[in-house]
Amino acid sequence: MIFSTSQDNLLRTVLLSLLLMVSLSVCNGAPNRKVTEKPKVMTEQQHKANPYYSRTVTTTLTLSDAVWKKVLSPAVYEVARHGSTEQAFTGKYWDYEGKGTYFCAACGNMLFRSDAKFSSTCGWPSFFETVRSNSVLYRKDLSFGMERTEVVCGRCKAHLGHVFDDGPPPTGKRFCMNSILLEFEPDKS
Ligand SMILES: [Zn+2]
Repeated sequence: MIFSTSQDNLLRTVLLSLLLMVSLSVCNGAPNRKVTEKPKVMTEQQHKANPYYSRTVTTTLTLSDAVWKKVLSPAVYEVARHGSTEQAFTGKYWDYEGKGTYFCAACGNMLFRSDAKFSSTCGWPSFFETVRSNSVLYRKDLSFGMERTEVVCGRCKAHLGHVFDDGPPPTGKRFCMNSILLEFEPDKS
């Protein structure tokens, strides 16, 4: 196809604008930023199917895979026990800014405070520290040809996500979590 100079210039401008739009949306990390709705709060009583769930008991849980499959929802089970990762920008908490506490969706263990949550462009909820040092445990993860540090729940060992060294002060850590393994409880007041 032959274009005149003006058509050629127009085409080039359109293509460049398109490229710019695409790269900007990638840089922002929020191509389809949604309106932040208040996530539905799951209370401790709503975990009737999971007798191991507790927000106060801290005893470590060692259950078989078959038991976990029975007491967790299929979506939570898939991430918690098989280490799946939810798609970026799809979880309920990646851009949520409510004040409160985040608990493990598999066992109720207290994991993070909203004060430690920061706005990250990665598309997953990100925190710079856990509530307690034993809230989570760490495992070396060599999957997908990368060397990463996996983060699992300190009580039930559910896969939560990974931790990276590119977070903000004061810790410099970025706990990059799957929303589906988190349950938020707003502060009372
Ligand atoms: Zn847990």
